[in-house]
Amino acid sequence: MMLRCFRAKKTSMDADRDLEELTTMVASLRRHLQRMERAGIRNLSIARDADGKAPEPSQASWLRGVEGGLFSDHAEACRATSLEELRAAIGDCRRCKLWPGRTHLVFGVGNPQAHVMFIGEGPGRDEDLQGEPFVGRAGQLLTDIIVKGMGLGREDVYIANVVKCRPPENRNPEPDEVEACEPFLLRQIELISPRVIVALGKFAVQTLLKTKAPITRLRGVWHEFNGIKIMPTFHPAYLLRNPGDKKLVWQDIKKVIEELRTPVT
Ligand code: SF4
Repeated sequence: MMLRCFRAKKTSMDADRDLEELTTMVASLRRHLQRMERAGIRNLSIARDADGKAPEPSQASWLRGVEGGLFSDHAEACRATSLEELRAAIGDCRRCKLWPGRTHLVFGVGNPQAHVMFIGEGPGRDEDLQGEPFVGRAGQLLTDIIVKGMGLGREDVYIANVVKCRPPENRNPEPDEVEACEPFLLRQIELISPRVIVALGKFAVQTLLKTKAPITRLRGVWHEFNGIKIMPTFHPAYLLRNPGDKKLVWQDIKKVIEELRTPVT
């Protein structure tokens, strides 16, 4: 009897250890899949048999659950086929530490088929309160750029931010917050598939281009992001403090207008 109890106890300890190991493995695999997801890899290749044949679709069907990252917090979002589905997949997001401070999650606004997409850093106070990006003083300046400068309406373009929840005291989003939120932006870009992205300010452009180069060096020249042309320029909030640089932004926007007028070949 004693022996049986000891064995039972030992088995339970083994099970605890196995569970712990499994949890560690799952966490590690999850991080790996998230890295792959961020790198744009959303399908895992299917192992072939000894003759080099891929399994029949019926055999491989269980693998379909892996597509988009079985262990990923973002799997549903990555599979969204419309902005509505993406917004629903984000839900009442608590994937990073910004969620407790938000009034509204600021998803994005505009034409889902826009040719031009403006991407800023994150919501400020007004945006957080209203649930819409670029609605404060800086937002008014962006609206002027779109309406008076480009001859478009806000409803013709799409406007979003790198992070969807307001960082406290309008500080820069931290790397873990960007990491948690970036897959949503990437899927937004994929779904909208704009011809041109205008990256507003240092933070947005450095995030998209994965560079530490200063905005003064990046702005005004075309870059590429996943096959989409990207024009970095100053953030409208910066222009409120440095109105003398509005002429530089106008130079950048003229290049965007020119690009949009160029027939697609
Ligand atoms: S910033 Fe993004 S990842 Fe963080 S809670 Fe908001 S929506 Fe979720």
